[in-house]
Amino acid sequence: TRTPLMAGNWKMNFDHLQAIAFVQKLAWTLKDAKHDYADVEVAVFPPFTDLRSVQTLVEADKLPIAYGGQDLSEHDAGAYTGEISGQFLAALGSRYVIVGHSERRQYHGEDDALLGRKVAAAVRNGVVPVLCVGETAEDLEAHGAAAVPVQQLRDALAAAGEVPELVVAYEPVWAIGSGQAATPEQAQTVCRALRDELRTVVGDEFADATRILYGGSVKAENIAGFMREPDVDGALVGGASLKIDDFASIVRFRS
Ligand code: 13P
Repeated sequence: TRTPLMAGNWKMNFDHLQAIAFVQKLAWTLKDAKHDYADVEVAVFPPFTDLRSVQTLVEADKLPIAYGGQDLSEHDAGAYTGEISGQFLAALGSRYVIVGHSERRQYHGEDDALLGRKVAAAVRNGVVPVLCVGETAEDLEAHGAAAVPVQQLRDALAAAGEVPELVVAYEPVWAIGSGQAATPEQAQTVCRALRDELRTVVGDEFADATRILYGGSVKAENIAGFMREPDVDGALVGGASLKIDDFASIVRFRS
């Protein structure tokens, strides 16, 4: 049995002061709701410049909220101006790091071979990669829903080497920020295909233990439908993760 993970990808929103205020309020809200973090895990992905502040708050108040970076370098150190090392993310207590978000693929030309090396960099530093895959509207038209995300997973894993723990996020590009979420059935079909790929490439035990999240216009109103699907183990949330009440309702999808 996999513990659901509700993850907020803040993208380029909130400076470090806003980040502290948000995480503090989120923790209060979930405490008021008597949230059991062992039942549904909570993670936030702030901009790099916020991570130290989030760490300080989380450690001072012993908050059971995980956090991590939205990207990392394939390298651990050296002359790579503007890049962030997995070592540094680990040193700040990051449990997770997002790898291969479609916005990185699209605006920064990140391909599956590079993303495999980034997965390896995360693993090397003891940070769990949250590997994002997903098809564009054109891919969907040409190949159906599952083919491209499954190929992206296959190619990244082939380049990554051994991965002890992974989270996969299925984010159809056409559903991101569009208000047009996939249906629970569509999400289930692709998440199931991704799990089958893990089964083939890595094995049953790994496939059964790996959380596969859905992302793309997840809201308080539609989360329960996704979570009823057997192969959807949580959500990677963009816009709705920036509002306390919306994100708390998503975390509290069972109530
Ligand atoms: P939205 O929830 O804003 O559609 O963004 C999804 C996303 O890209 C999360 O990584």
